[in-house]
Amino acid sequence: MLSDVPRYDPDRVSTRGEHAVVVGASMAGLFAGRILADAFDRVTILDRDPLPDERVARRGVPQANHVHALLEPGRVMLEDLFPGYGEEVREAGGVVMDASKKLDLYQGGDFIAEAQEELPFYCASRPLFEQLTRRHVAECADITLRGDCHVTGFVADDEGTAVTGVTFVEREETKLDADLVVDATGRTSRTPDWLERHRYPTPRTEDIGVDLAYSTVAVDRPPENEQGYLIVPSPPVTRGGTAVPAEDDRWIVTVFGRHGDHPPTDPEGFEAFASSLPAPVISEILANHEWDGDEIHRYPFPASKRRYYEDLDRFPDGLLVTGDAIASFNPIYGQGMSAAALDALHLHHALANGRENLAPRFFDRAANTLDVVWRMTVGSDFEYPETEGEKPAGTDAFNRYLSWVVDAAHEDSYVAEQFTRVLRLEVRPTALLTPGMLGRVASAKVRAYV
Ligand SMILES: Cc1cc2nc3c(=O)[nH]c(=O)nc-3n(C[C@H](O)[C@H](O)[C@H](O)COP(=O)(O)OP(=O)(O)OC[C@H]3O[C@@H](n4cnc5c(N)ncnc54)[C@H](O)[C@@H]3O)c2cc1C
Repeated sequence: MLSDVPRYDPDRVSTRGEHAVVVGASMAGLFAGRILADAFDRVTILDRDPLPDERVARRGVPQANHVHALLEPGRVMLEDLFPGYGEEVREAGGVVMDASKKLDLYQGGDFIAEAQEELPFYCASRPLFEQLTRRHVAECADITLRGDCHVTGFVADDEGTAVTGVTFVEREETKLDADLVVDATGRTSRTPDWLERHRYPTPRTEDIGVDLAYSTVAVDRPPENEQGYLIVPSPPVTRGGTAVPAEDDRWIVTVFGRHGDHPPTDPEGFEAFASSLPAPVISEILANHEWDGDEIHRYPFPASKRRYYEDLDRFPDGLLVTGDAIASFNPIYGQGMSAAALDALHLHHALANGRENLAPRFFDRAANTLDVVWRMTVGSDFEYPETEGEKPAGTDAFNRYLSWVVDAAHEDSYVAEQFTRVLRLEVRPTALLTPGMLGRVASAKVRAYV
């Protein structure tokens, strides 16, 4: 959670390595690359896709066609690394809003009350977030971004105790030496295979099956209308949706269904699915505004995935893993980019303590927050009995309490604010268990019965 980790402070990093290589130039790779530039003379970020300056949904990031909410850790890290980022989002046509007033969140049978404090929230398409971030990273003198470079493996030293570079195919296979290699290739990361081939233990992997699918369209938005909507399903309802204002005077409208209740990709079916959601706000947008063409993007997401690198007792020097390659979360909670940002912040603090034993120190630090985010995601998923995998102990009791928090948050702006700050990954879920919160939630429960 953002509140657990000290903010980015480049003066803390004095270590100087020669060359670091990051594999993957999506959000986790860009965050990591920028952080490494404080500690290495040169950083090279490789991606198998071309990396044009345009705002594109690249082949390697097919989820980019769908709504991407930037939660607070992602927002704060982008501002800290690239001051003025929010202003650039606005200048590019994105929306900088106060989510407490402008993002209507429907959950547990009603809308959540307005928070007392302002909750800043940047809204844009995922390609815009990536374009702005990539531009900033490319402007760093010590960082080289190289597209069309498909990384085929890591290079090990003669003793097999350290990774000393990568091999990649540009036109032909090439080797690139590095003091540190960071795998940011997303949930299909091949690091576990490489470890196995080099006789290292592989991380335990946990899959939590949710059988989810997204369908997404873009819809014209009057420029003065900067309202966003999110409908979170509660059992037994399996479908939800969101409409987020973005650049080019559009809403990006995503509907989703879990446990096989997948939204269709034809316009009539899409509209009918949206009309069946528990609140009419999204179907009203679809009915009252022009659609940006008939193309409906689809993305199936079978399972969240967590790889427990922090538990390994042997891991090569010179290698790290970050982003979705460690933890890929059910996307309806909007956590992935912010989890990648928090990984980068942990990497920053790990580097501040030197490069000795970097991997275990980084994995331990990152796990402190990833475990909490994972439990939040998985805990919510286990509200549904169809969810597959290992249910963490205490989940049912916490979910019961959480449903009371949500009920109280419909009326009580203090409860609404704490609940929203937890969802935004600002503070730990334990913030919902303070004496003040328990009192307010209990009073709401009593009021509901009288
Ligand atoms: C449908 C959907 C919706 C989502 N919505 C949200 C949201 O609302 N908010 C949010 O914060 N997150 C969301 N996410 C998650 C978010 O997209 C990721 O967490 C985020 O992109 C960080 O992932 P990453 O950089 O680790 O990996 P990825 O984004 O998967 O990128 C991996 C990169 O590695 C490159 N690559 C892979 N293999 C190689 C190779 N061998 N050689 C060179 N390059 C390689 C790929 O081309 C790609 O650029 C969503 C995800 C999905 C699936």
